[in-house]
Amino acid sequence: MAQRREEPKVRMVCEDCGSEEVTRDAWAEWNVDMQHWQLGAVFDYAYCHRCQANAHIEERPI
Ligand SMILES: [Zn+2]
Repeated sequence: MAQRREEPKVRMVCEDCGSEEVTRDAWAEWNVDMQHWQLGAVFDYAYCHRCQANAHIEERPI
């Protein structure tokens, strides 16, 4: 098996307030074998729960 390089961990924060209380729009697809919803696709729309508004998400190193 090929060795996979470890990417440094990042935080996803709101560009305006710096909060990590951010979520994105996504599709969940039903997995019959696992009997649970799994992430299908993640979209650009982001929401900050602290600003209670649309947000731009920024990637910051931990
Ligand atoms: Zn915010």
